[in-house]
Formats: sequence, structure tokens, C-alpha cells
Amino acid sequence: MKKYFINPDKKQYKANLHSHTLLSDGKLTPEQMKNAYKEKGYSILSITDHERPKNHSYLNDDDFLTITGYEAYVRPSEECIYDLYGPEIHINLFAKKPDNEAYICYNKAYCKYIKDLSEHDKLNKVGSTETRRYTAQYINKFIKTAVDNGYLVSYNHPVWSMEEEERVLSYENIFSLEIDNYGCFQTNATEYSGALYDKLLRKGRRWACHGGDDNHNIRPLDSVYSDSFGAFTMIMPEKFDYDGVIAAMEKGEMYSSTGPEIYEISIEGDTVHIESSAAKQIILYTGSKGPKFVIAPDGETITSADLKVDSRAEYFRICVVDEKARKASSRGFFKDEW
Ligand SMILES: [Zn+2]
Ligand SMILES: [Zn+2]
Repeated sequence: MKKYFINPDKKQYKANLHSHTLLSDGKLTPEQMKNAYKEKGYSILSITDHERPKNHSYLNDDDFLTITGYEAYVRPSEECIYDLYGPEIHINLFAKKPDNEAYICYNKAYCKYIKDLSEHDKLNKVGSTETRRYTAQYINKFIKTAVDNGYLVSYNHPVWSMEEEERVLSYENIFSLEIDNYGCFQTNATEYSGALYDKLLRKGRRWACHGGDDNHNIRPLDSVYSDSFGAFTMIMPEKFDYDGVIAAMEKGEMYSSTGPEIYEISIEGDTVHIESSAAKQIILYTGSKGPKFVIAPDGETITSADLKVDSRAEYFRICVVDEKARKASSRGFFKDEW
């Protein structure tokens, strides 16, 4: 029997799950951000200002939904000093209910990017307020506190963050890896974390994956240096409302992309069928040395593929690559799901 992982009959909604506004170190107002993204065909936006949980549902309309959240971080320096050559961790906290503005593990040193502290001071502060420590133990406790207080927690821009792989593998309670981050990709051209994602999946970490712009809009939206509209997440909720979108994110009913779209992923027997927008290559990874793939002949593109999963595979994931080397990445689908 055919089993769908991406069902062509299900509507997909375009989302930017990582963005910064004037509330922290971005340049646009939340209203400008909403207008710019709505105009580009996005239906979902999460404004994730640094250490600034905020319910932006005043921006919502029938076709546009904001997801409450913020970006938290931990640095090795107790004073939270930025070190160009040192690691740090950034995580996005997505509130499962729109009015949840809980601020996790308040620490004044980490509020340096917040413009207006007067509103910030009134937030509901939860969890330990001890000095943040850059240890796996502390960070796991931080993540657990966020989860216990109603957040989905994602692991952001692994390349930029420069954390050791073993460290990343030690994190628990993460729901999704930010496999694409456009703001970082623009500066390093390597912020695509497919290899790390396979390492996580091989170790049985059932993280989903998603993409975001992480836009700060220091440059204008029409500049080649604009950090908007480069990486996004397609989300497939049962119903287009807050609860529906959060449920879809939590279940991994989404995929990341920097361009191509995936219309179908299904499996029948050992054959995975993929339908996509025009592609140069379609790849099926299973965590082995031998991904299965098809490549379009020179000057041509393909829009579908049938690729076999071998019997030893514990999971598979799909990547669709277009002519500009932009990628769409599904999450890993584990054996007990097919
Ligand atoms: Zn970040
Ligand atoms: Zn960010």
C-alpha cells in the first residue's frame, strides 16, 4: 500500500521561521516585515528577536499568521562577550500557544540586543536565573525548561555557531534542525547542514528540518545583499490556524527549501516516489555511503523520480536540487513510519 509523507493533495504554506526586527538588532518594524513577506507569497512568519518573546498576533489576518517566539543563545563568556573565533549556541523557541511570552532563564547580560527594556522587564520570567554556562548540561537544562514552558525548540545555523559535533549530538528535546539559514549562507555559502543532519539521523535523533532567512535587513530588500527571501519552510497543516501550524511543525509535516518545491513523497514497497518542481538532481539519502539519485541530462530538468530504499536503511530523506544548486530537503522518515 502506498504511504504518503508529502501528500500532493495537502496545501503547503510558505513560512519564514527566523527573523529579526527593530525590537532587537533588525532594521524593519514588525509591520514592515509582515508586509514584505506577505507580498512575496508567505503565509506564516515567526519574528524571533534575540531574547525577546513577543506575541505578534496583531499582525495576523485571514491569510497570514505569526508564530510567537524568540531566539535564545548561550556563549562561553560569562559576560556574554561575542567571540569571533569561539562557539556559541542559538536556538529558536516557538510558542505552542500564541499568548505564551514566557522568558526562559533571565540573564541581564543576554539582553544587550533588546532596544526597549521597559516592556521586556514585565515579561513572565521562568527557570533559573543563574549565570548562563556554556556546558551541555546547562544548555540541556535550558532547553528542557523551554519545552516544559510550552515551546518547541529548534537548533539554529550549525555552521555559523561552530559547535563541536559531539556537542550538537548531546542536545535533547530539540524538535528541528535549521538545515538552511539564508543570512548565514549569504556570508559563508556553506550554511546547508545536510551532512550534520545525516549524522543526527544515523544516531536516531528524530529531529525534523526546516529553513529560515534569519533576516536582519541591514541592507534594503531590493539589494543583492538583502538577507530576506532565501530560505523558507513549507508547512502542511491540517487546518490553517495557530494550533494547526504548530501541530504540523511538531509532527514534522514540513520541509526546508532555498528554492525548489516538493509536491509528493510516497513509498510503496521499497520504492520512494518523488514529485517536485524542475530539478537537476533528486537524491535519496539513507545514512549510507551510497545515496540513490537521478540527474537530468544536460540542458534538461526532471520533476519526478523513483528511488529504492535498501533493506539496511533505518531512515530515508529526500533532497531536490535545482539548476542554481538550490535545495529542498525533507526530514528523515524512519523505518517504523513506512
Ligand atoms: Zn542566531
Ligand atoms: Zn537569528
